Amino acid sequence: MLALRWHWTGGVMTVTSGCLSPHVSKPVPDHMCLVWRPPYRAEDRVRVIAWTCDCRAPFFELCHAAGVAYIRRTRLNEVHETYRWSFKEAEAVWRALLGGNAR
Ligand SMILES: [Zn+2]
Repeated sequence: MLALRWHWTGGVMTVTSGCLSPHVSKPVPDHMCLVWRPPYRAEDRVRVIAWTCDCRAPFFELCHAAGVAYIRRTRLNEVHETYRWSFKEAEAVWRALLGGNAR
């Protein structure tokens, strides 16, 4: 559901100085390798609850949809998603991603 994606630079709320969203850290040597798959199914309501700054490609979004959660990776027009997890699991993976412990 790309139409529901919201970010700072896409609309009227253009960021003029600095970045407000976090950037992912460089992956550590023994980081967890996530499986990135092409989007296979668009849930009706996807809620993006966290995101990284889109000044860098790829950027990542933590999505909630239909009782599950997953992470979406966007690089130019290329979108990939992780498997679906529970909110709690996805939150843990999201933190690992930001900290460079997963990619
Ligand atoms: Zn940035």
